[in-house]
Amino acid sequence: MLDADTLVSWFDVNARDLPWRRPGTTAWGVLVSEIMLQQTPVARVAPIWLEWMARWPLPSALAAEPAGEVLRAWGKLGYPRRALRLHECARVVAAEHGDVVPSDVDTLLALPGIGAYTARAVAAFAYGARCPVVDTNVRRVVARAVHGAADAGPPSTNRDLSDVDGLLPGVATAARFSAALMELGATVCTARTPRCADCPLWTECAWVRAGRPVYNGKPKTVQRFAGTDRQVRGLLMDVLRDTAGPVRRPMLDVVWADAAQRDRCLDSLLVDGLVEQTTDGRFALPGEH
Ligand code: SF4
Repeated sequence: MLDADTLVSWFDVNARDLPWRRPGTTAWGVLVSEIMLQQTPVARVAPIWLEWMARWPLPSALAAEPAGEVLRAWGKLGYPRRALRLHECARVVAAEHGDVVPSDVDTLLALPGIGAYTARAVAAFAYGARCPVVDTNVRRVVARAVHGAADAGPPSTNRDLSDVDGLLPGVATAARFSAALMELGATVCTARTPRCADCPLWTECAWVRAGRPVYNGKPKTVQRFAGTDRQVRGLLMDVLRDTAGPVRRPMLDVVWADAAQRDRCLDSLLVDGLVEQTTDGRFALPGEH
């Protein structure tokens, strides 16, 4: 069992000063931060999040923008389908929830682009709900500190949620405990080099007590980026974000030499609704032609 008071006290002193943690951040601000932070480091998200909050402080303001402009403002955060889903989510919150992000997990789960993690993160961090918030960092800390394993096994939403639910303290500190657990995984109990000597859980950590046994599960696949379709899709999107209107095919062709891969990526962007084709065969961000 983790000592919640120890962890929360550590967080009180060591929490990073992130813009979305500052007083006055709305539930909408928390939701946008959580979507942006999926698979994207804090340092890249922070400036974009600040721009978005200044420009679109309410869901209705984002919903009123054309999708192309939202994708342009997404910049190089990557995985741009998130931006389209967030745009759609803003439209639903504005139209069906009075422009206020819902507080209840089930209602949040029904919104476009909101999954098990994000729904609970918003309920906890925006509204102080007592619910398990489980991301990769939390899974790793719990695997080590509670179960004595070097790393978490493959994810399983129900098992992971009930595992972390059993660790939550009472409602008064549950959300802060969840934030602390995530922060510990992000800054101290990191995947490759956990800084156990700096960890508030050092004396109770099951993995340390067991002598830090090596991970005996399947090795994790490391996601490469160079040369992948993800890289090529990003390059194609860069061209469209940097121009005001539709572009002709040769402007896209110069970004990548392998024509088959380039075509596959452009097709997938069209299928995903991130790019549209004009009747005269040019390409543009959605709605920008
Ligand atoms: S003592 Fe080490 S392994 Fe255990 S939770 Fe802390 S950083 Fe992670």
